[in-house]
Amino acid sequence: MKKDVIVIGGGIVGLMCAYNLHKRGRQVTVIDEGTIENATSFGNAGLLSAFDKTPLSYPNVVSNTLKLMLKGQSPVIFHPGLDLKLYRWLYKFVQSANEVRTKKTMMLFEKYGQISLDIYKDLVYKEGIDFDFHHKGMLSVFTQKHTYKEKLEKYNYIDEEDRFEIFDEAKIKEYLPFANDKIEGAILFKKNAHIDPKKLMLGLKKYLKESGVEFILNEEITDIKYENNKVKYILSQNRNFYEAETFVMSTGYKTNLAKKGNKELMLTPAKGYSITFNMPKELKPKTSTLFNDLFIVMTPRFNDVRLTSKLELGSDDPTVVQRQIDSIKRNFKEYSIPFEMKDEVTWTGFRPLTPNDIPLIGRDENYSNLIYAMGLGWLGMTFAPSIGEIIGDLVEFNQTNAKNDDILLFSGFYQY
Ligand SMILES: Cc1cc2nc3c(=O)[nH]c(=O)nc-3n(C[C@H](O)[C@H](O)[C@H](O)COP(=O)(O)OP(=O)(O)OC[C@H]3O[C@@H](n4cnc5c(N)ncnc54)[C@H](O)[C@@H]3O)c2cc1C
Repeated sequence: MKKDVIVIGGGIVGLMCAYNLHKRGRQVTVIDEGTIENATSFGNAGLLSAFDKTPLSYPNVVSNTLKLMLKGQSPVIFHPGLDLKLYRWLYKFVQSANEVRTKKTMMLFEKYGQISLDIYKDLVYKEGIDFDFHHKGMLSVFTQKHTYKEKLEKYNYIDEEDRFEIFDEAKIKEYLPFANDKIEGAILFKKNAHIDPKKLMLGLKKYLKESGVEFILNEEITDIKYENNKVKYILSQNRNFYEAETFVMSTGYKTNLAKKGNKELMLTPAKGYSITFNMPKELKPKTSTLFNDLFIVMTPRFNDVRLTSKLELGSDDPTVVQRQIDSIKRNFKEYSIPFEMKDEVTWTGFRPLTPNDIPLIGRDENYSNLIYAMGLGWLGMTFAPSIGEIIGDLVEFNQTNAKNDDILLFSGFYQY
């Protein structure tokens, strides 16, 4: 039987699209190649950090990365290969790293970050889904004098108490009792929040199931058949085929399915790691903390703490490489007093990273009932609810991309 809306891929982006479409009264089916219990959307840092967030492609990113490489602290690992797409991606990334783009991107981050935050609040306070939502700000910590100075220069002249607070030494100690005295400075960006991503995913899946959203799991979609400028049906590895009015593609870093329709999505998998462990309670950070120069995030959680880091380009191998875990710990420990990390659990995932931090969302130009919800990169938890909202508008009002202002503003299909 022909379905109404099929969402291919049940990561946070797919589930948020399903949530939004369901709320608008659509019959939604989510199809996933796995069980939706352990993809990239599960083991990440859980920051909802759209506010005062510098994009990855910012001016000086190349020189700053090279400096960190010389110090042995760089989070970036590059595996050169024969895939030309990766070099095209890198070229675009460097092109995007300019002042004008950075300013525009930061404004877009705030606009869509606020929409997302409001939807997360609805999930907690109206739908009753518990995912350890904490709206306590994100502490940005600087370990290099010059980056702290640069940041201070920007914020010294802004008078917005509800937005940020520049910390003195005592406040740093209060928020980061584990830290040693090598930290150069810290600023609390108050509008940001953090969550437990696994609790969110499992809570949302349960809510959707109970609300009547259909889940077809362990079903990899391998092909798409087109007819008269529309997707007629999709085919699975298990030889099932599914027809629908509308298809939403949210397959994370995997772009092979999009390629079946000759769509080359400019995104690349950027492998990251997390280490979840127990530490003495009195040393836990008070809120989520970004070690700005090291690209390490430390998130306090209900029972434990999580460190996330690394940005590995040119690999889609999910193996946990012990050398990278050791490197994260070594870089972190340089700024911490000694303590034992107990009951460690390590994990890897892949950010679906576009070269300019802007997602790839909107209708396919050739097949009108196919919509992409892809390319959320290192900020998928932060923006997924607003992407769900935008896709919801496209479907409900049967809009073309040109009729949807959010697509024109926030889709990488319409930005260089
Ligand atoms: C180390 C690390 C830390 C991070 N920290 C943060 C953070 O603090 N804040 C933040 O906002 N973001 C963070 N992110 C980014 C965030 O995790 C991602 O942007 C987000 O999870 C991407 O969600 P997604 O739904 O696009 O992809 P995924 O979660 O990868 O989901 C895609 C789904 O599609 C399914 N699928 C793929 N292909 C097929 C197919 N052919 N057929 C059927 N199903 C298919 C997969 O099984 C999967 O379930 C982090 C990422 C990493 C790696």
